[in-house]
Amino acid sequence: MKTIGLIGGMSWESSLEYYRILNQTTQARRGGLHSAKVILFSVDFADLAAMQHEGQWSDISAILVEAAQQLQMAGASMVLICTNTMHLVADDVEARISVPLVHIADAVAEAIKAQGLGRVGLLGTRFTMEQDFYRQRLVENHGLEVIIPNDAGRAAVHQIIYDELCQGQFKPESRQTVLGICQELVEAGAEGVILGCTELELLVGDATATVPLFPTTRIHAEAAVALALS
Ligand code: GLU
Repeated sequence: MKTIGLIGGMSWESSLEYYRILNQTTQARRGGLHSAKVILFSVDFADLAAMQHEGQWSDISAILVEAAQQLQMAGASMVLICTNTMHLVADDVEARISVPLVHIADAVAEAIKAQGLGRVGLLGTRFTMEQDFYRQRLVENHGLEVIIPNDAGRAAVHQIIYDELCQGQFKPESRQTVLGICQELVEAGAEGVILGCTELELLVGDATATVPLFPTTRIHAEAAVALALS
């Protein structure tokens, strides 16, 4: 089995979930006492979140490139950036390492296409919903159509992510808010909804929606195990 390198801590709530899914998936596939070979480089998210909101993406890029290189030097055979938003600098990271970067948007796009869907809603931080780096990749590289919430919906999801989920608060009323926004996306034509923030699936849990939901932490972690065992 290949060693999986994780850049985590963004937030650590979802990094825990990555670790759990990587190990559960490996055990389910290989049986017995098998578990995943993992190296985690975990950052202090307060510093990086502040930089995001100040638009200091080149500083963020330098930190994540350094983390990815450290993982590679420590023996990782692949690198995962354990957050959707930080894929804003994924191209820089990918260019500075020689092992594969498992891109979260590619993994989720494959899962969507495997279900035969073409038009999806996208929930995440404002960076993920509003900027091009994520949506464009889904559209241009995978031929998907992407719908995002209106401004009020985007503000609500962004605030829930940073003020609650990344601080370990999972409130029933926020779950209802997120599910309500999902339903608005469905009414706007979405055939599925991407939970495009790695903490959202912790909030939504096993709630059922009227269309398939795509939990990016689970999908990303499962893609890494598939590559590690290939
Ligand atoms: N984990 C979140 C995501 O998947 C938000 C934290 C971040 O901004 O990196 O986008």
